Amino acid sequence: MLISRKKILRRIGLFPVPILLSVIAPSQSRTHSLCFTFPGSSLTFALTMVETADVVIIGSGIVGSSVAYHLAQQGCTNVLVLEREAHQGKGSTGKSMGGVRAQFSTPINIQMSKYSIDFFSKFDEVVGHPADYRAHGYLFCATNEKHIAYLQANMERQRALGVTNVEWMAQEDISKIVPQLRVDDILGGTFCPTDGFVDPHSVMMGFMLNAREKGVRLWLDTTVTGIEVENSQIKTVNTSRGSISTKVVVNAAGAWAAQVAAMAGAELPVEPLRRQLVPTEPFDRLPQRFPMVIDMSTGFHFRREGKGILLAWNDPKETPGFKTGFDTSFVEKILTHAASRVPVLAEAGVNPRRAWAGLYEMTPDHHAIIGPAPNVQGLYFVNGFSGHGVMHSPASGRVAADLVLKGHSDLIDATQLGVERFKEGKLLEETAVL
Ligand SMILES: Cc1cc2nc3c(=O)[nH]c(=O)nc-3n(C[C@H](O)[C@H](O)[C@H](O)COP(=O)(O)OP(=O)(O)OC[C@H]3O[C@@H](n4cnc5c(N)ncnc54)[C@H](O)[C@@H]3O)c2cc1C
Repeated sequence: MLISRKKILRRIGLFPVPILLSVIAPSQSRTHSLCFTFPGSSLTFALTMVETADVVIIGSGIVGSSVAYHLAQQGCTNVLVLEREAHQGKGSTGKSMGGVRAQFSTPINIQMSKYSIDFFSKFDEVVGHPADYRAHGYLFCATNEKHIAYLQANMERQRALGVTNVEWMAQEDISKIVPQLRVDDILGGTFCPTDGFVDPHSVMMGFMLNAREKGVRLWLDTTVTGIEVENSQIKTVNTSRGSISTKVVVNAAGAWAAQVAAMAGAELPVEPLRRQLVPTEPFDRLPQRFPMVIDMSTGFHFRREGKGILLAWNDPKETPGFKTGFDTSFVEKILTHAASRVPVLAEAGVNPRRAWAGLYEMTPDHHAIIGPAPNVQGLYFVNGFSGHGVMHSPASGRVAADLVLKGHSDLIDATQLGVERFKEGKLLEETAVL
């Protein structure tokens, strides 16, 4: 009877268990090769271990970080966040003005804000890190009858949806809040005291640190270069550090989201649009504490930032594109609007080198796109915040996590934010965009 060599070795207890010789983990790769050999044999072989994750999030800005936090909160911790930069916050999050407001015109944006502002008010306690939420309010100032009708209709809608503290302000009330404002043409306005500001970087870090404490992994310096799809199902994410096997990808790539979607063969109508902010030098001729004030005649708005004032204005001549350099000619344009509404601001010093620009991620109807990609199973969008990504980050992270894990969310009717709305002609027009 012939007995195989393997059987003989097993009988005498010498089954040739392969011995691990080495682990090859090149610094620029996240795949590990394990090299084995058989005892007493020159035979060696290598196994390449591909990384896997239940969910891969592309982008670690405030939105990707919130998705990671909300997935982990719901017990999904085998999550890998990929970020091409060496640090978080290098995209739009680090450029934001940090404004948060419930004063919107559409029910869905009001609902997203209500949840998010409640969340910011207890962020430090719940997340364990500071959000620096300051409830200094937003004050919209109307200069014609159309503005008044618009603000009053919005106020009714906001109150009906539970934002009960929005108030109508007469011209003299507005003057009391910011006595330096030129109010001769201001007919009234709305004020919501729980609107205000957060520190976007701190919120982003808080979400991510909390998620990482629960097991979520973050790979910095890792650019997503491709997404492999097989039979319309997500299969692999390719990066500058190797491949990750996964069935679920959340696109949180901000202004670059359309490029990431295209890697998986999906269409996403998100366009970058430059936005510029100008801080003044220390300026004490305005109150130490006052709300974000919006001049509806021009769109100029401003708030206090430390010892100075932060000036913002949406230049209607700006055109889409990945332009992140600050255009110094913007200083004169914004100062003209500033001095016209707040004459003392003509005396404020401005150093153009301290001004900056970043990208809004715009959609055709100025509402976010949150939900699954119709043609790629396992691909989810959480994009296109059109200037509201910081303030809506708690709600959008929660809704995206709900959709990934349960297929629906009881926070809002998420189907309204699906990308299909553009093809179906069901656009949601938000006119309260700053
Ligand atoms: C000047 C300015 C003022 C603003 N003011 C406000 C405000 O007052 N209130 C408000 O709510 N919002 C404001 N916004 C908008 C807000 O900043 C954004 O909506 C928000 O930061 C979007 O967050 P995000 O995480 O989606 O995007 P980002 O912060 O841009 O994060 C996306 C990340 O994806 C990464 N990424 C992209 N492609 C890849 C890839 N291929 N591989 C790996 N990583 C990738 C990027 O590096 C980036 O870190 C402002 C924006 C600007 C520019």
